[in-house]
Amino acid sequence: MQAKVVVVGSLNMDLIVRTPRLPVGGETLAGHGFSTAPGGKGANQAVAAARLGAQVAMIGCVGDDAYGAELRAGLIAEGIDCRAVMSATGVPTGIAAILVDDAGQNAIIIAAGGNAELTPARLTAHDALLQAADIVIAQLEVPLPTVEATLYRAHELGRTVILNPAPATGPLPAHWYGLVDYLIPNESEAALLTGIQVDSPQSALLAAQRLMERGARRVLITLGSQGVLYADSTRHLHLPVDPVVAVDTTAAGDTFVGGFAAALAAGQSLEAAIGLGQQAAALAVTRPGAQPSIPYRHELPA
Ligand code: ATP
Repeated sequence: MQAKVVVVGSLNMDLIVRTPRLPVGGETLAGHGFSTAPGGKGANQAVAAARLGAQVAMIGCVGDDAYGAELRAGLIAEGIDCRAVMSATGVPTGIAAILVDDAGQNAIIIAAGGNAELTPARLTAHDALLQAADIVIAQLEVPLPTVEATLYRAHELGRTVILNPAPATGPLPAHWYGLVDYLIPNESEAALLTGIQVDSPQSALLAAQRLMERGARRVLITLGSQGVLYADSTRHLHLPVDPVVAVDTTAAGDTFVGGFAAALAAGQSLEAAIGLGQQAAALAVTRPGAQPSIPYRHELPA
């Protein structure tokens, strides 16, 4: 089976503790609930693309432990090709320790674990997947040399390259912009990349223009309940959404990226692809968790 969408990125087990309030340094608190859920930006985007209709393969790395086996099994159950989800010996699988208080505030620590072992050499070993792809998606939760190698190779092969520059870490290397077909930051990532405060379609357009001055061809800035701002060198569009009451916004951006890619891979127009990503993300924010919240195609309007 030929994979249409290939995701190069992270797999994490989310370890979620609910707590009355977030602790201060040195404090021990009694939480009132613990759960685990599969996450990681790469895996979330792969699951979203698969649930929304794409053939998907994932290139990533877990540790040689029970979490790694569970994450891999979860992706396989979604029909995702995991032959390139490698298992690194002697390291733990990546985790996100997530504290959520009763007011919905959170504090998160990510320990990269196996994700840090996704080296450029490990990527190159699975070059055949990039060759077979239509669309290649990357984020920033794996080593940046591997992200760079992904962008270079996918661009060289003429694939459609999507970069979700998350989590926001700092400026992107200048030469990356020209390798990317769709750059998809959220408000805070767009702000970090440009120095422009992004909180409206107008400010998002200014940020998108700044990113295009650096060489970005097409920019989509996700604006939470304000929808998405799209811009390229010839036009710009603000695509609003019907706001829903968010229960948990975890993986909203990932669901948008995966849904957008799935629709593009299916040959849909830009506007239709943004629309599918938005519909899926709006449903995801009404449900808790990362991957558990991501909807299937049949849950969305025709
Ligand atoms: P997160 O980091 O929490 O996963 P994000 O900050 O990357 O999310 P957002 O920009 O908050 O991503 O949301 C992505 C998309 O999800 C938005 O562009 C929008 O389409 C949809 N969305 C988010 N919040 C809402 C909402 N309250 N109502 C409707 N749609 C929403």
